Amino acid sequence: MSQFLTCPVCGRTQIDTPRCPNCEADLTALRILANLPPVKSGLDYRSLVLAIVAVILGFIAAKI
Ligand SMILES: [Zn+2]
Repeated sequence: MSQFLTCPVCGRTQIDTPRCPNCEADLTALRILANLPPVKSGLDYRSLVLAIVAVILGFIAAKI
């Protein structure tokens, strides 16, 4: 399923590629999150936040 994203770095909209064509930000994690099922409760939202933190930590670890 393809979904248009908005770049969190430069604000470009209607992005359907893994990277932002304007600033080349990696949107892979954003796309994964965008494709998750809709959040139904506060508890699920907490899990989503934990998932985002895990993705960010993984990204930082890959950079080192
Ligand atoms: Zn961008």
